[in-house]
Amino acid sequence: MSGDGTQAVHAGLPDPVPGQPFLPGPVFAAPYHLDPDAGPGQNGYGRPDNPTRRGLEAAIGSLEGGQVRAFASGQAAITALLLGVLRTGDTVALPADGYFPVRAFAEGTLRGLGVSTILVPTAGPYPALTGVRLVLIETPANPGLDVCDVRAMADAAHAAGALLAVDNTTATPLGQRPLDLGADVVVASGTKALTGHSDVLLGYVATGDEGLLEKITTWRTQTGGIPGAFDCWLAHRSLATLDLRLARQTANAGAVAAMLSARDDVTGVRWPGLPDDPSFEIASRQMRRIPGVVSFDLGSASRVADFLKRSKLVFAATSFGGLHTTADRRAQWGDDTAEGFVRLSCGIEDTDDLLADLAAALA
Ligand SMILES: *Cc1c(COP(=O)(O)O)cnc(C)c1O
Repeated sequence: MSGDGTQAVHAGLPDPVPGQPFLPGPVFAAPYHLDPDAGPGQNGYGRPDNPTRRGLEAAIGSLEGGQVRAFASGQAAITALLLGVLRTGDTVALPADGYFPVRAFAEGTLRGLGVSTILVPTAGPYPALTGVRLVLIETPANPGLDVCDVRAMADAAHAAGALLAVDNTTATPLGQRPLDLGADVVVASGTKALTGHSDVLLGYVATGDEGLLEKITTWRTQTGGIPGAFDCWLAHRSLATLDLRLARQTANAGAVAAMLSARDDVTGVRWPGLPDDPSFEIASRQMRRIPGVVSFDLGSASRVADFLKRSKLVFAATSFGGLHTTADRRAQWGDDTAEGFVRLSCGIEDTDDLLADLAAALA
């Protein structure tokens, strides 16, 4: 197989046609012309069918090693999986420390539908999975960055007759391919590092299981949470630089994590690439690269605010994985993190500039 940069540049592109662009522009259509004799072909109506979206799905599918259905956001993709698979009386296992709105959805909508939830910490210990229908793990978990062993979880889920789903948002498919590690299905937000320009919301489900793919496709067609053609095109265009962006983000995160852990006025520095990080061993075995996100604690909300005001390069913003370095004090969103907990997402600025800016802002 070719290298990551080559794959990212060529992912999902049509065969060359003289006079046509490398990546054809977005096709904006609600209905398409139909053949009066033959009726609907591949493009009949925009909710089930869009060629720009199919191109993006082929691209992400080639990186994840499965078939992909794109959604309007990561949450649309995750809830499609949960509602497409779970039925009254089922139990789902969700990460206790993963993306907060997923737990909120389980405690509200899923509970109302008679689906029970067990919460599992990403770092373990893992409970028995007997009677569980679907296990969703998030690794590395957002925002705490614990990592869990995908292959071991796949074995445990399968032994219990459950499906294993992995939220691959933080790693991206160039960071790890959960389907190769035994997962049945991947869900992810493409809003973060996958597209990386902080200008599009996107989600996807990827799987090699035809039956599951059909359920997800039917779910999407009937509930309608599709991404628009322009967003699909923007996302596909952005994928070409994924390898380069991740390389710089990882290098920046490594340097930032080392710098922060050497300071005694910053606590709880987490980055799975730090040799003394609790996730280091499993991350090194399982992941192809470590993401550009570092988390740490500055002790109080006011110290985080001072840090953000003094920094010239770090934007105060939620989300992560973009070109620009951003920092988010998660507790302001009602997350169950400490008041001074920060998730820092390293952008693609020059490492020396970023280190100097952070040091000045913390001084
Ligand atoms: C952001 C995020 C989501 C939700 O994605 P949206 O595109 O914002 O809907 C899901 N899982 C993880 C791990 C995320 O970081």
